[in-house]
Amino acid sequence: MEDQALFYRDTWAEVDLDSVAANINGLKTLLAKGTQMIAVVKANAYGHGDAQIAETALESGASYLAVAFLDEAIALRKKGIAAPILVLGASRAQDISIAAKHEITLTVFQEEWLLEAKKYMTNDLQVKVHIKIDSGMGRIGVKTPDELQSVEQMLREDGRFLIEGVFTHFATADELDNSYYQRQLTQFNEMVHSMKEKPELIHASNSAAALRHPEAHFNAVRMGIAMYGLTPSIEIEPEIPFPLKEAFSLHSKLIHVKRLRKGEKVSYGATYEATEDEWIGTIPIGYADGWIRRLQGQEVLVEGMKVPIVGRICMDQCMLKLPFHVPVGTVVTLIGKQKGNQISINDIAARLQTINYEVPCIISNRVPRIYRKSGRMVDMKNSILSY
Ligand SMILES: *Cc1c(COP(=O)(O)O)cnc(C)c1O
Repeated sequence: MEDQALFYRDTWAEVDLDSVAANINGLKTLLAKGTQMIAVVKANAYGHGDAQIAETALESGASYLAVAFLDEAIALRKKGIAAPILVLGASRAQDISIAAKHEITLTVFQEEWLLEAKKYMTNDLQVKVHIKIDSGMGRIGVKTPDELQSVEQMLREDGRFLIEGVFTHFATADELDNSYYQRQLTQFNEMVHSMKEKPELIHASNSAAALRHPEAHFNAVRMGIAMYGLTPSIEIEPEIPFPLKEAFSLHSKLIHVKRLRKGEKVSYGATYEATEDEWIGTIPIGYADGWIRRLQGQEVLVEGMKVPIVGRICMDQCMLKLPFHVPVGTVVTLIGKQKGNQISINDIAARLQTINYEVPCIISNRVPRIYRKSGRMVDMKNSILSY
């Protein structure tokens, strides 16, 4: 028998590619003509699915992709993504030929690294690089004009390297107080001016700076969190010039519904006790799916109503207190909209005392992702899925 199902469990995440496209289009309206958009798809596109988001971003006007690690770039190549890809983080010097072979752009910022990489670099290939400037993030990058000039010199004297870009990263672009951002911008401008020759691409802005600081657009911006429809921080939400559309939602289904008598208990540790006769439903999602134990007490949506998770969250399942009998098979929305009600990623982040970035990232690979485009379920090549 031919097997067409995508997955065999009643828990899944949905990614709305139209929302991703709308967010990109919104940002595009803020960019001057000719400013390129680099779509940041590291960490499996913040948990959304690297290749699907990459395809959508490229179709919507992004010209470049960025990831954190070489492995992520190679994974995209293996999925057939041919667009330019920049590795934002450090790569190992001994892997430089692999990057060149796959036409992956590397970030460089250290003389010692370059000396080492030159030993490993094949002679028949060229590798594109962007030089990283540390203008105040204190993470990676050259810090002084001297360091910058010697890295530039070392690259220019070796024909196997092509300096395509120079960039920096802001530490506080998502804060209302712009003073530290201003210092970083000034520092970056001074450093870039000290270069012998300006590279083709100069970029500094993450989503927050792209949304708030047109003077930091240069000729490319790196769009991450806003592409997924999430605000870079709660405090700048009122400043965002167009509505962001959250693309990620998370769903499950009731697999068991039963009546608990007053005094009966739920889950490990028997920490929850029915205070009266209650309806308790079980859903097949747990901490191994990234629905972590700290989410005990969080509300989820059942038939549009907010109902709480009761008792400890297990590895693969958790329990809900239902206000009345709800049939097995009913959809439960843990993140997203249902019948006019919504639980947003920001709600989950607030409960976990973290930032929205972390939430879709921690929903594990055990949760299948499905994709919607124009209201229909699609696969990577945008064919409509039938089953
Ligand atoms: C992750 C990352 C980005 C994207 O930041 P967002 O806030 O998600 O837009 C941009 N640049 C660098 C260097 C990054 O590491």
